[in-house]
Amino acid sequence: MEITQEAETGTSPEIVDVKHEIPHQRPGGSDPLEASYRALFAAFDDDASGQLSRQELVERLAKAGILEDDPRMRETLIAARKGDGSEGLDFAEFVSLIQNSSGLVRRVAEDNLVIPDFAEFAAEIDDIHRELLPETGGAVADYIPQLARVDPDQFAIAICTVDGQRHVVGDAHSRFCVQSVSKTVSYCLALEEHGPDKVHQHVGREPSGVSFNELTLNKKGRPHNPLINAGAIMSCALIRPDADLAERFDHVSKAWSRLAAGRPVGFHNSVYLSERETADRNFALGYSMREQRAFPEGTDLVQTLEFYFQNCAIELDAEMLAIVAATFADGGICPLTGERVFATQTVQHCLSLMSSCGMYDFSGEFAFSIGLPAKSGVSGALMVVVPGLMGICVWSPRLDEHGNSVRGIEFCRKLVERYSVHPHDSAEGQTVKRDLRRHKSQTNSEAVAILCWAAAEGDLHAIRVLAAAGADLSTANYDGRTPLHLAATEGQVNVVKYLLTRGVDATAVDRWGGTPLMDAERRGHDEVVALLRAADGARP
Ligand code: GLU
Repeated sequence: MEITQEAETGTSPEIVDVKHEIPHQRPGGSDPLEASYRALFAAFDDDASGQLSRQELVERLAKAGILEDDPRMRETLIAARKGDGSEGLDFAEFVSLIQNSSGLVRRVAEDNLVIPDFAEFAAEIDDIHRELLPETGGAVADYIPQLARVDPDQFAIAICTVDGQRHVVGDAHSRFCVQSVSKTVSYCLALEEHGPDKVHQHVGREPSGVSFNELTLNKKGRPHNPLINAGAIMSCALIRPDADLAERFDHVSKAWSRLAAGRPVGFHNSVYLSERETADRNFALGYSMREQRAFPEGTDLVQTLEFYFQNCAIELDAEMLAIVAATFADGGICPLTGERVFATQTVQHCLSLMSSCGMYDFSGEFAFSIGLPAKSGVSGALMVVVPGLMGICVWSPRLDEHGNSVRGIEFCRKLVERYSVHPHDSAEGQTVKRDLRRHKSQTNSEAVAILCWAAAEGDLHAIRVLAAAGADLSTANYDGRTPLHLAATEGQVNVVKYLLTRGVDATAVDRWGGTPLMDAERRGHDEVVALLRAADGARP
């Protein structure tokens, strides 16, 4: 039996020549591979019926965030519905199914996706959504008349990880215009077409420090960056300039659709018309750039502005925008289709600018307190990227004075308070906050292991960091050995002193009946012996 590395991710092993004969190959089940398949099957077969119902499968996958409409699961779920109308898989069918789903089912069974405790994370997202519902501060944008008609109470949060684990809460299927969020995709398309050198002859990459539609250019007469209006108008000028407007728009909307796993994007015609009617400022920006000869030769200004307004009026829902964000998080590969939409470099450039310029004139504050690449739009859309982990969309139309969604900003604050997703979280911060990539149980057992190791090595700093994070210093490993046992055995006087002042149990007994004092006596660590005797004597 041959096992090869999975071609795409290079992570999980995939079985290439196992067919239905496996279950019959060794009736005794002594083949370790068969045993592992049987364990997987049992992990799914909750009622131990020997038949895995479609329902059991769907529920188990959903708990891990792999949803029924996931394109990667289509074959698998069809296979689970038998030709005779009955549902379910026996062991042999299950084995062949694992092969067809590129390791995804296996990774679900082994809790081996990028956020292993996904159900818990999803519950926390629901909590945050509930906590933020009463927040009704801010006001909807009204400078584009059609935008002012939106129901301001709507509120959605959607998550998609780089493994395609998804969760949505609230109005995640109401459509909204992307508005300024379109600037990210327009910039990426310009980069893909011309490369960064050419693009940045026409647009800078510094935060402007002023409002998104401020009538200002940099010292060279170029827009400050591609994520404010002037810069996005410039990106539009660079996208397929020789094609007609219909083709150019198709090109952009196809890119959005590929970023969102092939789902069709919409277009809000009345927002587009309304914006076009009230676009004096954007026209002024356009003319000011033309005056400075900032545009590529031959640019048709009015057509470029029309194209820009159309890009802003592209519509999708929060679930789709989270998938788009996840494609950015995965370096340009859509997690649900495996399709590479943008080059890694393109995405990297865009994320860098999102980190410094994505949140209007709040970008510096956002980078300081949240630290994640993000882009907001005046429709109340917010796309946040946690590189290598997940994409997030928050949509809530009420905006603060900077033009950012009030609930969107609050969501980000709560996220970085609870999870170590700020890119500059310190080691200490990471232990205080939860690490989404780890199992809670894994985190606990690692904490015990690190504590015992640090106690034996005399690494007081590591112990203090764990203590600050709330680790139980009396905790024992599988053999009943506590950090104090280890420190006593190795004669680590400072650690012993510290642990005793923190009130750990000096008389803890390991599985062989040994106490820290006995360890210290056996190894002849007199100072430690004295400390432990004193601690024991001091006990009430
Ligand atoms: N279409 C809007 C404008 O140009 C975009 C504004 C935004 O979302 O920041 O004014």
